[in-house]
Parts: sequence; structure tokens; C-alpha cells
Amino acid sequence: MSLRTPETQADILVAGAGAAGLSAAIALAQAGFSVVCVGHVDTRANGRTVALFEASLRFYKALGVWPHFRGKTAPLARIAMIDATGARLPVPSVCFAASEIDLAAFGENIENNVLVEGLADIASATGNLVLHEGMISDISFDADAIHAALADGHCITATLAVAADGRNSLVRTKAGIGTRSWTYPQIAFTALLSHAKPHRNISTEFHTRSGPCTLVPLRAAENKLNRSSLVWLMSAGEAERRRALPQLLLEQEIEAQVDSLLGKIEIDGPGGFFPMAGMSANRLSGHRVALCGEAAHIFPPLAAQGLNLSLRDSAALVEVLEDARALGADIGAATTLKAYDNVRRSDIFLRTNGVDILNRSLLSNFFPVDFLRGAGLFAFSMIGPLRRALMREGVLTHGTLPRLMRERPLRHFPPSSHASSSIGMSRRG
Ligand SMILES: Cc1cc2nc3c(=O)[nH]c(=O)nc-3n(C[C@H](O)[C@H](O)[C@H](O)COP(=O)(O)OP(=O)(O)OC[C@H]3O[C@@H](n4cnc5c(N)ncnc54)[C@H](O)[C@@H]3O)c2cc1C
Repeated sequence: MSLRTPETQADILVAGAGAAGLSAAIALAQAGFSVVCVGHVDTRANGRTVALFEASLRFYKALGVWPHFRGKTAPLARIAMIDATGARLPVPSVCFAASEIDLAAFGENIENNVLVEGLADIASATGNLVLHEGMISDISFDADAIHAALADGHCITATLAVAADGRNSLVRTKAGIGTRSWTYPQIAFTALLSHAKPHRNISTEFHTRSGPCTLVPLRAAENKLNRSSLVWLMSAGEAERRRALPQLLLEQEIEAQVDSLLGKIEIDGPGGFFPMAGMSANRLSGHRVALCGEAAHIFPPLAAQGLNLSLRDSAALVEVLEDARALGADIGAATTLKAYDNVRRSDIFLRTNGVDILNRSLLSNFFPVDFLRGAGLFAFSMIGPLRRALMREGVLTHGTLPRLMRERPLRHFPPSSHASSSIGMSRRG
């Protein structure tokens, strides 16, 4: 089934059908809002995986989507960090175990395309939600509504737009929300690997002078028992050189970089090269628009924070909008969206800057910076409460988690609003 008329009305338009947009759309529809999610569902494999931490898993479990991914993920029971910068002052290696904070695993790792495809299937089967595979070509904002024109001629009117349309967000730009952007002299090379030795559910980060080189456990596949994903940050020059290498030589370079930790390595399927950049939106909301995911914040893939942060955006947005509706308030009103902005700002600021500092501390070989990094890691490895606080912060974050991420989420399922009456379940291309 498709959008039935060229003109569709909904409570909420979600722009973007990446992991952030699809997750937000499912959560908002389950909360009883009528939702149209517009975007291209990209299910191409590019060697990228996402490690989803405890709070994100709770979110997906609360939405009932997690069973869909059973058997497609690998648990991260331990995270090891090994200094390979050659710093003059020895920097200690550290290993964190999820059991230290009473968890079986910090989270689960899954191929990005498997996650997106699964979320798209779930979105297509979710009541109150239309997944429309197309692109928004223009959007305008009235006093009471937003109007989106799609490239295929459809028009959507909604009370609120959620901009989850990625780093070059059209919706953010049209809403007049500025950004602060910066770049890093790094390219991330990603690949799925099969290897001789088991990963034992340990994610290992080698900290090098060009950034981390990280091995993250992956589920076994047919005839391939031992699998991991690789995220290797390197200079643009090295990325160009390695892109041109025959596969066998590239596999040997990976094996050498990770000290043969997993034995002989083979690259399994297509990989990817991603230039590293940072971006922070000046505001998380504008007139009848809320930003979510990479439309709001971008930083390099250190400590696997990006999508986890985006899912906290979604969970917080659902809560703010549910609360506004319960009070009879307009979900697109400035006061409602200001509450979303307020609740998300510090988490986003902390992650963006934390990742930036860690990344730059690796790139610099200035002795005092090395000293501080070494002292920090030493403190985190030796001081129990600090160590556990860091682990909790990584997977559950400080402060109050949104309702959907608490251990027993308190959900109420109000009846669908009238605006949804013209919308059925659909996914169309
Ligand atoms: C190498 C690498 C490793 C990573 N590892 C992790 C990890 O382990 N853990 C983690 O939490 N995060 C990780 N991340 C970050 C995570 O992958 C991203 O945060 C996440 O994929 C971004 O999702 P998104 O939906 O916000 O953006 P995108 O995936 O970019 O999706 C944007 C969507 O918007 C659509 N769109 C764009 N313009 C329009 C328009 N005009 N109309 C309609 N739709 C539009 C696009 O087609 C797309 O569907 C990693 C990132 C990289 C690069």
C-alpha cells in the first residue's frame, strides 16, 4: 500500500529512513501519533556495524523490535584498550568487563545494513506509520503546520517535522537552523573480517597516532565461525594507499596492525572508506521541527556513541511529545520543542566533546597530552568507582534516562489520533 493520495495529513513527518529516522518513526507511531516516514532505505553492505549499548537495547526491547534481530548480533562482554601510539610515557592498557556493572554485556554489535533493513520491515508493519521510500524536495513551515513536497509529487502536511535526514539535512537547512562543522585528518576504513581465533566477545581498540583501530565481535555466519568488524582510522594518504592494495596485502596489514590478536584475517565482503567530520547543530529544534540523529550531531566512531546518542534523541522526543499531548498541548509548539532541546543538550554536548578530546589526544604527540591521556587511563583502570562510573556512562549515560530506556518502561498506548485515519500500513518505493 502506498500514500493513498498525493496529499497526506499526519501528526508527524519523519524525514529520513536511516537507523535514526526509522527508530524514531516506529517509537512515535507506537506512542499513538500518526507518522509518515520519508526516505531512501539503504541496505547496501559497506563493512559498517553498530554497537548498540544497554540503553539502546532497552529502547528496542520496549518497542518490541529486538526479537527481530535475535541471532543477528554478537554480545560485547568486554572492551579492551591497547595503546599503540608509541608514547614516550607508557600508557596502560585497560580492559573493562560488563560483569563489573552487573551486566551480561555492554551491548550488541550488528551490521548496519541488517539493522536498517530490519527496522524498515518493522516500520512497514507498524500501525499508524507509513514508510514512503522517496525524497523530500522542499518543506515549508506555517504557523500551525509543515508542508513537505516529495520528489515524486506527493505532499505531506503535518503538525511537526522530525529531521532525521542525515548530515546534509534539507529539513534542518529549510528550518534555518545553523550548524558548527569541522573536519578531522582521518578516514575510517570499515570491513567485516573472518579470522582464525575466537574474539571471545571482546571488543579491542588499538589506539594509534592516526586514531583507533577497533575490532568488534560479530555473530558467526555460515562456515565462518569467527567474525569481527573493523573500524580503522587512518590518514587520507594511508587510506588512498590501502584502497589500492590487493586484498591479500590489505589483510596482512590489518593483521599486523592488530598484532595478530585474532590470527589469520580475511576480509569478508565489501568495505568502506568514510571521511571523518564533526558537526553540531546550533539548536535541536526550530519552528515545528525537531532534529534527531546525524541531522543534529556528528562525530567520529570512537567508543561507538553515534547511533546510541541518536536513539536517546528518539526516546526523549517521544516522551516530550507524549507529555505535551497528555496536557492537551500542541506537539509542534515552541514550548514543547524547547523542552526537547533542554533535555537533550547536555548529553549531546558531552558526547561530541568527549569524542573530540579523545580523538585529538591520540593525534597529538605533545608530551603533556600523552601524559594526561596516560594518567586518565591509569586512573580509570585502577580506581574501582571511577572505572565503574565510566562504564555506566558509556552504556547508560548520566542523569535520568527517557522512559523507554528505563528498565521497566512505563508506556501508555492512547488511541490513534483522527489525523491518522487516511494512513494505513505501507512501504512503497
Ligand atoms: C565507520 C562508522 C562506524 C560507526 N559505528 C557506530 C557504532 O558502533 N555505534 C553507534 O552508536 N554509532 C556508530 N556510528 C554512527 C552511526 O552509524 C550513525 O550515527 C548512524 O548511522 C546515523 O544514522 P542517521 O539515521 O542519523 O543518518 P543516515 O544513516 O545518514 O540516514 C539519513 C537518512 O536520511 C535520508 N535523507 C537525506 N536527505 C533526505 C531528503 N531530502 N528527504 C528524505 N530523506 C532524506 C537518507 O536517504 C537516509 O535514509 C558509526 C559511524 C561510522 C561512520
